[in-house]
Amino acid sequence: MTGTAIGIDIGATRLKMAHVDAFGTILASAIVPTPQSGAGIEIVDRVAAEVRSFRELAVAKGFHPLGIGLDVPHLVDGPDWVQRWANTMPALEGLALRPLLEDRLGGELAIANDVNAFTIAEHKFGRGQGTDRLVLVAIGTGISIGVVADGEVLEYNWGTAGDTGHIIVDVDGLNECSCGGHGCLETVASGSGIRDELLRAVARGEGTVLAERLGRGETVTSRDVAEAARAGDPLCSRIFERAAFFLGVGLASYFHTYRPEIFVLAGGVVDSSDLLLDPMRDWLPRLASPARLSGFRGIELAAYPEMGAAVGSASLILFPRERATGLPSHEVAS
Ligand SMILES: [Zn+2]
Repeated sequence: MTGTAIGIDIGATRLKMAHVDAFGTILASAIVPTPQSGAGIEIVDRVAAEVRSFRELAVAKGFHPLGIGLDVPHLVDGPDWVQRWANTMPALEGLALRPLLEDRLGGELAIANDVNAFTIAEHKFGRGQGTDRLVLVAIGTGISIGVVADGEVLEYNWGTAGDTGHIIVDVDGLNECSCGGHGCLETVASGSGIRDELLRAVARGEGTVLAERLGRGETVTSRDVAEAARAGDPLCSRIFERAAFFLGVGLASYFHTYRPEIFVLAGGVVDSSDLLLDPMRDWLPRLASPARLSGFRGIELAAYPEMGAAVGSASLILFPRERATGLPSHEVAS
């Protein structure tokens, strides 16, 4: 019998847990709210309690998971896995996660950036199976990519492939980005960018069915913009057309940089793939070098839309030697 492992995706709002076998099959899964209140160490305590309960369910079914792989947003630094740039989970900022988790969970542990974990899952078991070069594009509140090159995940910029949501694409708009730069892909094509495009247009006096809600001070999200676009609202349709165009621009640039055989789309904005995917598929070959496109398999939606990062985290345990070098390697805890 081959081994199994537990994968834990620690998101800002949801904690996703998966018990995974060596073929990428999810034997069991659970999604619970991520503990929010309290100091960082209290959050770690409660996360660890959830993970222990989930592991006990696997053990009760006769499994003996080989270890626990975890992923966190943003960055972990050094051998003690110090959480950095945790702007969506500020209570964890600066915490050395490894000793805390080893104390509470024991056994073999591994950790990765969330987008890299997702990328590993899609490369190992999902849409990128059998490819040497893959780019996963995670489009949510922000945009980030994970890159597999020559079979290995690129982890060079604090464990990431770079600040890839911040390539400059909107050189006419040049709106200020959360990073302080101007015209970044995130300002026009992420979930928050799509919402901000609406707010900017309404501030310029453009009409939309959503104007009344905005006038009442209600929160409007990219999902609302998508719904209005589907219902034929001209402004919201145009915002999505622009987002798809700029994603095409971004993907063409990623394509020229990394030469993937396939792009895999993931993240919350995939809910709007009916508005984005076809135009992106049109734009990419119109923008990218035709000579480079032979052998390119296309743009696909993730095989694990919900649990990809958790499955990839479990893979860190199941296939430890396939990890790229450069990050803290996981070891058997005493
Ligand atoms: Zn930026």
